[in-house]
Amino acid sequence: MNVTSIPCLRDNYAYLVVCKETNQAGIVDPSEAGPVLRAVQRSGADLVAILNTHHHWDHIGGNKELLQRYPSLKVYGHGSDKGRIDGQTQFLEADESFALGKLEVRVLHNPGHTTGAVSYVIEDCVFTGDTMFAAGCGRLFEGTPQMMYDSLCKVIGGLPRQTKVYFGHEYTENNLRFAAKLEPDNTAVATKLGAARKQRSEGEFTTPSTLADEWSTNPFMRVDSATIQAAVKLADPSNDLSPVNVLGVVRGMKDRF
Ligand SMILES: [Zn+2]
Repeated sequence: MNVTSIPCLRDNYAYLVVCKETNQAGIVDPSEAGPVLRAVQRSGADLVAILNTHHHWDHIGGNKELLQRYPSLKVYGHGSDKGRIDGQTQFLEADESFALGKLEVRVLHNPGHTTGAVSYVIEDCVFTGDTMFAAGCGRLFEGTPQMMYDSLCKVIGGLPRQTKVYFGHEYTENNLRFAAKLEPDNTAVATKLGAARKQRSEGEFTTPSTLADEWSTNPFMRVDSATIQAAVKLADPSNDLSPVNVLGVVRGMKDRF
């Protein structure tokens, strides 16, 4: 398969996924139609599907216009997002699979940012929307710290460490600055922050990350870190330092960062 990262709006990414064998393609989270249509045309691929990770406008904003242009597109999203995703035709449940050309797409249900949030696993890649970012996670708009902990550390975190993580927003530099403040003794964070600054200053994307990188740099997955736990205890002296309660406090700190 081929994956093309398409910057949209201010800091969103859509991803064009092409099955090399059949030339059929899906677009993950078309924030807006213009850049996506140009990428589809450049690729010469046959667009057959929209894969929405969740219902937020900056992930589905291009659905309507793409459907006008390609009326037979299948539009995938979680079953519980029925009525919230423009043009949705496929209503997914956890661990379901479907075909994109000859590629198998596996659905992970990972609530937390929204209740209907899903990630799509294709070969050695996962498309996580606003659930897992490089060194971050989405805000808990509809879910709980428990949901986000399970989604990050068990559901997505259960994938092999070499899995490439294609996330929904270019927030990497800011996320790593927060991670470095929270865990100043983490050399993986410091190294990745330096690399991200260089990439951004040269106009490059930081996507994709890898799960190995996330286990070593993402403060929302590093709830066992003694340094992070000490920072949480300082902010919230009565915290019992369970993984979920550490994540909850770290999320609150990031919201105010
Ligand atoms: Zn969102």
